[in-house]
Amino acid sequence: MEKILNYIDGKFTSAGSGQWIDNVDPSTGKTYSLIADSDAADVEQATRAAKQAFPLWSSMPVEKRSAVLMKIAELIDRDLESLARAESVDNGKPIKSARTVDIPRASANMRFYATGAMHLATEAHLTGSEAVNYTARTPVGVAGCISPWNLPLYLFTWKIAPALAAGCTVVAKPSELTPMTAYLFTRLCAEAGLPPGVLNVVHGYGAKAGQAIIEHPDIPAISFTGGTVTGKKIASIAAPMFKKLSLELGGKNPNIIFADCDFDQAVSTTVLSSFSNQGEICLCGSRIFVERSIYDKFVDALVRKTKELTVGDPLDENSRLGALVSEAHLKKVMGYIDLAKQEGGTVLTGGSRVAVQGRCADGFFLEPTIITGLPSNCRTNQEEIFGPVVSIIPFDTEEEVLQYANNTTYGLSATIWTENLKRAHRVAAGVKSGIVWINCWLFRDLRTPFGGMKQSGVGREGGWDALKFFLETKNICIRL
Ligand code: NDP
Repeated sequence: MEKILNYIDGKFTSAGSGQWIDNVDPSTGKTYSLIADSDAADVEQATRAAKQAFPLWSSMPVEKRSAVLMKIAELIDRDLESLARAESVDNGKPIKSARTVDIPRASANMRFYATGAMHLATEAHLTGSEAVNYTARTPVGVAGCISPWNLPLYLFTWKIAPALAAGCTVVAKPSELTPMTAYLFTRLCAEAGLPPGVLNVVHGYGAKAGQAIIEHPDIPAISFTGGTVTGKKIASIAAPMFKKLSLELGGKNPNIIFADCDFDQAVSTTVLSSFSNQGEICLCGSRIFVERSIYDKFVDALVRKTKELTVGDPLDENSRLGALVSEAHLKKVMGYIDLAKQEGGTVLTGGSRVAVQGRCADGFFLEPTIITGLPSNCRTNQEEIFGPVVSIIPFDTEEEVLQYANNTTYGLSATIWTENLKRAHRVAAGVKSGIVWINCWLFRDLRTPFGGMKQSGVGREGGWDALKFFLETKNICIRL
């Protein structure tokens, strides 16, 4: 059985404990590879290697650093098909999504920051004729990067690309549910000539290997994407150590649909924002607010289109939804469907596990599910479900829908559907979310700030924000 090894100081090694974790294919329910079960001792080795590599990497001319990162991007493109297959098997997502979204975005992340670092400029301020101030930005040191399972290589590279481009060395841990493409990525890093110790990947459980990264005194910056509960725990450890912290956390995103929207576009994009990647995207819209005059028509159309979606073998090109990432996650999501029923909701479509025939008979498949009849303040409409489950609620006025939209502890993203430009601006200004899409969803420009308000996170990724996160800022004042 294939073994997913740590990558420390340019060498592939098993965990010091000699222990392994089963890696389950969610589409079959069967173990198909083994993951190094690392602990604090492995993180210690990785951190030592990263510290040793830091002087070389941070002082290397930016053109040279950039060239290595560009080479890694080329190798990702070369291996597109095998990486897409690996991502699909490891996560359960349709291979088509992995091939067209996840893996291309991983190489785009590497290219974006490989070139971005070469354009980073710093400010200078003339203080009258008496002084000149200039801002120096230097890499912060060893960065800790921890990523989740939903978009494995996509989000892993979204963190380590800016860290490496900024001149930091890295100790990273992917989710133990989906470590395969991070492992394959380390093989590409070795092939591309990334110097040993610059990127170190330690596999294993979050509470053991992940936490050791957070606690390590020689890792001054932590970039984390994952759930809000884990984010709180990480902040409680890292904040008293005065570490730099970037937290990208959960969401309970509203889709706000006005009667004057482009109806067909709103319906077809809402299908995507509800069920892409089995609803396992932090940006999925899980609370759909529809203006009452088009409510019935919208619900009918959404249900009809949702019923057309094929749930099936992730390796089948025709599957639109694959398996949920794990049995535990499937149970959690189904628990929320039960909760919705207890709270008085009506399941209009979906709600049940899907029995896929053949090799996927024991996989973790769930029907895309639409629920109505629930108030905005019930648990189903307040807590992140992170699966293919949405709730639809009618509204009458702008004020009312803004109150609903903002009535959660989260504030990651929102979509607004209207052909009225003034209203679009007004509502966008009133929504408490870090990202607002008007008449679209997940339309990304990597230069834009990305992140959430309230309990959806702290700080922003993307563009200069991510690069600057990994840099320490110093003002130098010269008296003239
Ligand atoms: P988790 O918070 O469970 O885990 C995220 C990562 O943190 C994993 O690698 C996990 O390892 C690790 N981890 C867990 N406990 C600790 C700890 N004590 N110390 C250090 N690391 C730890 O999130 P999920 O993987 O379940 O991801 C889903 C969540 O991520 C959702 O809430 C989703 O909204 C959010 N998300 C946010 C995004 C954003 O940009 N805002 C984007 C994508 C997802 P292990 O898996 O081994 O436990």
